[in-house]
Amino acid sequence: MPLVLPEKRRAVAADLRRLLGSEKVRDDVPTLTAYAVDASIYKIVPQAVVLAESEADIQTSVTYAMRTGVPLTPRAAGTNLTGSAIGSGIILDISRLNRILELNRDERWVRVQPGIVFAELNKRLACHSLLFGPDPSSGDMCKLGGMLANNSSGPHTLRYGSVKDNVQALRVCLSSGDWLEARRYGLDDPALHAVLATHPSLQTVLELVRQQADLIRAKRPTVSKNSCGYNLFGLVDGLDQAVFDLPKLFVGSEGTLGVISEATLRLVDRPKASITALIHFRSLEDVGEAVPQLLALSPSALEVMDTNTLNLIGRDRHGIPSDAAATLLAEFDQDGGLDSLREQATRLTALCHRYRLSSDPVVAFDQGQRDQLWNARKALYPTLYRYDQRKKPINYVDDVVVRADQISELIRYLEEFFRAQHIAVAIFGHIGNGNAHIVPLLDVNDRDDFARMVDGYRAIHQTVLTRFSGSICGEHGDGRVRAEFVRRMFGEELYDLFVQVKRSLDPTRVMNPGVKISDTSFTEHIDYTRLSKACATCGKCNSVCPVYDVFQSEDMSSRGWFEIVTSKEYSYLNSKRVVEACLNCKSCRTICPADVDVSELILKRRAEHPNRMAGAVFALHARPWLFDPLLKAAARTQWLWDRPRPRAWLEWITRPLMRRIAETARFPRDMVMPRLATRHLRERYPELVRIGASGPTSIAYFHGCAANYLDDGVGDAVIAVLRRHGVEPALPVQRCSGTPIQTYGHVKLVLEGARHNLASLERYDTVVTGCASCTLMLKDYPQLFEAGPEREAADRLARRVKHITEFVAESKEAPDQSTGTARRRKVTYHSSCHLRAAGVTKAPRKVLAALPGVEFIEMEDADRCAGGAGTYILKDYDTAAKIFERKRRAIEDSGADVVATSCPACMIQLNNGLRGTVQVKHVAELLRDSFESAQESRGTDPSSKR
Ligand SMILES: Cc1cc2nc3c(=O)[nH]c(=O)nc-3n(C[C@H](O)[C@H](O)[C@H](O)COP(=O)(O)OP(=O)(O)OC[C@H]3O[C@@H](n4cnc5c(N)ncnc54)[C@H](O)[C@@H]3O)c2cc1C
Ligand code: SF4
Ligand code: SF4
Repeated sequence: MPLVLPEKRRAVAADLRRLLGSEKVRDDVPTLTAYAVDASIYKIVPQAVVLAESEADIQTSVTYAMRTGVPLTPRAAGTNLTGSAIGSGIILDISRLNRILELNRDERWVRVQPGIVFAELNKRLACHSLLFGPDPSSGDMCKLGGMLANNSSGPHTLRYGSVKDNVQALRVCLSSGDWLEARRYGLDDPALHAVLATHPSLQTVLELVRQQADLIRAKRPTVSKNSCGYNLFGLVDGLDQAVFDLPKLFVGSEGTLGVISEATLRLVDRPKASITALIHFRSLEDVGEAVPQLLALSPSALEVMDTNTLNLIGRDRHGIPSDAAATLLAEFDQDGGLDSLREQATRLTALCHRYRLSSDPVVAFDQGQRDQLWNARKALYPTLYRYDQRKKPINYVDDVVVRADQISELIRYLEEFFRAQHIAVAIFGHIGNGNAHIVPLLDVNDRDDFARMVDGYRAIHQTVLTRFSGSICGEHGDGRVRAEFVRRMFGEELYDLFVQVKRSLDPTRVMNPGVKISDTSFTEHIDYTRLSKACATCGKCNSVCPVYDVFQSEDMSSRGWFEIVTSKEYSYLNSKRVVEACLNCKSCRTICPADVDVSELILKRRAEHPNRMAGAVFALHARPWLFDPLLKAAARTQWLWDRPRPRAWLEWITRPLMRRIAETARFPRDMVMPRLATRHLRERYPELVRIGASGPTSIAYFHGCAANYLDDGVGDAVIAVLRRHGVEPALPVQRCSGTPIQTYGHVKLVLEGARHNLASLERYDTVVTGCASCTLMLKDYPQLFEAGPEREAADRLARRVKHITEFVAESKEAPDQSTGTARRRKVTYHSSCHLRAAGVTKAPRKVLAALPGVEFIEMEDADRCAGGAGTYILKDYDTAAKIFERKRRAIEDSGADVVATSCPACMIQLNNGLRGTVQVKHVAELLRDSFESAQESRGTDPSSKR
């Protein structure tokens, strides 16, 4: 009965709401759309989503699932490639459980909750010189819960092993709703008897493993890595040492045996220094021979990319020689310092020269360079999404393992196999472990490609098992994609044992059904619609999305928004809440390896429903003869209204108007207001306005709105800096660059302003900016126009725009700077999102680091949004404040006296959030100060008019 289903769906969420409270349970269309996918090829729409905040929430959800028979799927970051974090019942998202609970430096262990992101954990451990070793390439976004449940590993498995080798204990909620302390128990330990008495299901597992120990030993994969099936091999190893090693049972069980709420992880000392080498081989045979030799040098990582992968990611783009047949990435850690690393590099280079190389090995010592080498490798899979509109990288044979010395034979077999199928394929992975990631590019909507996929799935897996005696799964998990082959990998008897283990721990089969233990074909639930879209659903953008950072919920995230705004079910009405929550910070666009701009898609949706109230304000703003006097009146009376009582009153009285912008919008009484200028920048520099109208200069300063209207010192500083560089900049007539207008959906107004600015700026060779958003918007003008003269003018302008920090960094002029103040100032840098999106990241740092009297400190999270995002601070002040928390911690931890930035809008948020605890300055202000004090010390007047 089709009509019954929605009722049922509602019933589950309604029940859970009663049990957990409405804040933690969602079943609205956008939320279910966002949670229907992970990074796999599948889609299953759940009935409800629970955002767990405590162990009690986990227990209540599990008990409810068990009582009602509704499937329950635990979920962390949803970056698995196998469809294991989606399901038809309840999605239990544990992301909000993301704290470090305890750290023991001496004994080198940490107790964490499962929602903590791997990279965050290691950042926090770094200050104790400790490290959690297993490092999936998705480490920037994946969370410990998923890593534990998948038995993840990564490039450095060679040195540190997989997750299963690094876990001391787990706390697990079993399907009975009871909690288990899963650690290694001695078989004679009375504590084990107590555990078995409380959990009879574990007694069954122990008996089964004892009885079938020989079978399990006989079926153990002979390769160095395996995440296929349940790890009964680890349990047998434990029995051989007279222990019941319970973590081994749950690590790698993919949420099918219980929900993990805590883990105690073994840590290692952080290596003191490392080198990374990139070696381009001209022949695959040589790679096969070189690998054992390289392994003898004890690398901590050894990765491979085959010739097709190099072609697909673009050889020119990554500087890869055209005749390279395969590229190896090798890393060496040393505790002995730089000298021993140099020796290692020499040994490595000498060894490599025995083979036919396309070029000398590139050896990187510097962290930045090493990161660059790794970044391309880590983002490989989503990068392949750029390759073709229809043919997408499909993960269905993505994780096989053979002996390391057989990997070139495997690659040769695979290349021939796919050549015969006429399919482009990327083969890369952890060659040191014999673990190959095989990603063919297919159009699953094409009948022939689909048939090739099914053939390839069976043939390749079978060959890996029979010819190579390998494993079908090294680290990604079985999920839905490999479940149907687990039986074939281990044979009926052992598979039956897996089934009995599952049945004893999850008798009602509510824990993540369809995953790992299932006969369902791998082609069920394939998301044919999504696989023709541009997004790889890799989740990388979530790791930088400030909204996701605060809400830890997929419906409030960049990846989720891509799903929501491109869904057939999308309507502004059902998705307004989420579509209006994006800050338009563009961090997602900057990081996306597949070249997707989620913010742009959201802006397009907003443009279908432009905000009228904001439109009225922008229309007023476009009439300076009306707007400017009003603003000046506000500036002149700021001393009167910008005090606690009037501000409280103003907040109250403006609330109905602000509500018309957004439900959450207000004029917050406690926000630190920037000082409004009583004389606007253009009035303060009439001579520059005049040369803007007619003068000979070839350089214009596009000041934008903030520098004109605010008395924040930025405009004066930019002009002073330009003058020190011998430039008398023009201030041509200009309209708002368009960023805030676009944010509220007023495309026509944006175009109007853009046309105005294009005409006004056309005659200048260089257009200098001081604002991050103006910089990006002017560079993005080409996106606003179809091909034609306007587009050409926009292209021309985009090439001529320079942020003031770029201008200074590139300038040949070297104006006198102060020789430094008595006390060196510690300066850190907040990298504004829009300037990063415009590609300007190095110049501001270079300029700051070169300032005399300044000790430049790179802060953690410098590249994260501060939450101001133009008018977002007014649109949703509370969320903006929550976003800022991370930035505040980073600034405080840096120990800086001054936080510099490149954007007047970010300065508003920084000043509001820091409240004077740390000084906030635009980079141009620091430059101007330095020039001025140099001038003063020589006894001449500075040229600034401030
Ligand atoms: C670009 C890219 C690169 C990747 N590289 C690697 C790699 O190098 N190595 C590697 O191993 N993997 C890799 N992966 C796969 C994936 O990122 C990892 O397996 C990762 O550890 C999954 O973590 P997650 O937080 O996203 O988990 P999710 O995808 O949310 O969940 C994974 C599994 O864990 C279960 N789960 C989550 N939390 C819990 C919990 N608290 N209790 C019980 N079960 C739980 C889920 O039910 C699911 O079965 C990559 C993925 C991508 C997109
Ligand atoms: S938008 Fe880009 S980064 Fe985000 S999930 Fe899609 S492919 Fe990954
Ligand atoms: S623009 Fe910023 S807030 Fe919006 S989706 Fe992208 S990262 Fe998230």
